Amino acid sequence: MRSKMSFKKIVSVLLIVTGFVCYSGLSSYAESAAALRDKIAAADKKIQQAEKELSEAKKKQASAEKQKEIIDDKIEQIVANIVYINTGIDNANTQIAQKEEEILVAQEKLDTNKSYFKKRVVSMYKSGATTYLDMLFGADSIADFFSRMDMLSYVLKNDKKIVEDMTNARDAVVEAKKVIEERKAELEVSRELAQEQKETLDKTLAQQQMIVDKLGAQVKVNQQEAAAAQREKDALNAQLERELAGYTQPPTQGAAYAGGKMAWPTPQGGTITSPYGYRTYPSNGLHTGLDIGIKMGSTIVAAEAGTVVKVINGTTGYGKYLIVNHGNGVMTLYAHTSKIIVGVGQYVNRGEKIAEIGSTGFSTGPHLHFEVRINGKAVNPIGYIT
Ligand SMILES: [Zn+2]
Repeated sequence: MRSKMSFKKIVSVLLIVTGFVCYSGLSSYAESAAALRDKIAAADKKIQQAEKELSEAKKKQASAEKQKEIIDDKIEQIVANIVYINTGIDNANTQIAQKEEEILVAQEKLDTNKSYFKKRVVSMYKSGATTYLDMLFGADSIADFFSRMDMLSYVLKNDKKIVEDMTNARDAVVEAKKVIEERKAELEVSRELAQEQKETLDKTLAQQQMIVDKLGAQVKVNQQEAAAAQREKDALNAQLERELAGYTQPPTQGAAYAGGKMAWPTPQGGTITSPYGYRTYPSNGLHTGLDIGIKMGSTIVAAEAGTVVKVINGTTGYGKYLIVNHGNGVMTLYAHTSKIIVGVGQYVNRGEKIAEIGSTGFSTGPHLHFEVRINGKAVNPIGYIT
């Protein structure tokens, strides 16, 4: 702090020496500063527009990606369903193969018995009516004759019954196989439907991917635009720094600021919502001040005694803002206010009300954008007010 103080003293001496030079250039300074302010306001508007477009593009991209995820989930469900159906079809195929084997066995048994039965009948007829009649008429008695006839008819009947039973057994297996085949056919229809659904969803997904890609490209363009706008503003800010650096007059009254803690500019409290420093979002660039969030209409006081050197009732950029000169090249800036109650050239005490909290210019809600500038250069206010 001591070395800083002596530096300030040197600056003060230099101010006395160079004061007239600065004074003579004041009207041209005011002129170019006004033009510069307009340019910065225009740059701010560009940044605001670019960042708004960027945030909208990002929102759209996020919603498109969410939509894509929903489609992805649906496809996953359908694929799981197809796998389940395939398992059912595989099971049906196994059962059908089993039934086919059973049918083969039943058919073989049936064929064997049928041919045996046929052979017996054929041999009966082949051996001729004589043998057949001989067998019957070779009977010892009428009783024997009928007994022999019964036996023959029994044999024939029994053969027929066996064939019938076996036919029924085979038909039952064939019927069971048919039921399984019907079930399999139904499963195949379900699978076809699911596959069709999947194909449709695959197409939708591809379209959605195209939308996501397109929006991604848009986000990139918007990011580049926002970055370009920020670069432009940075360049203008550097120019403002140079102009303010030339404005080194002491306050109209009292002593020049010579170090020490400044007052917190919002005596009703408030919280730091955005610190001073380089940001990467939504665009790269220096945030030249400290954002203090506090409710609309809250009091803004001068952080240090000094003379008001600028009051701007702008609608873009900083909105309604003012600059207080504390001497020794130290100035404070209060932006986005709703109302400024002091005028240019007015001397204000430390802690004196100068404005009210607002959300004018590039602002998303009521807050104070507070800057400390040393020889025009914005520095971290934290080192001065806390
Ligand atoms: Zn800010």
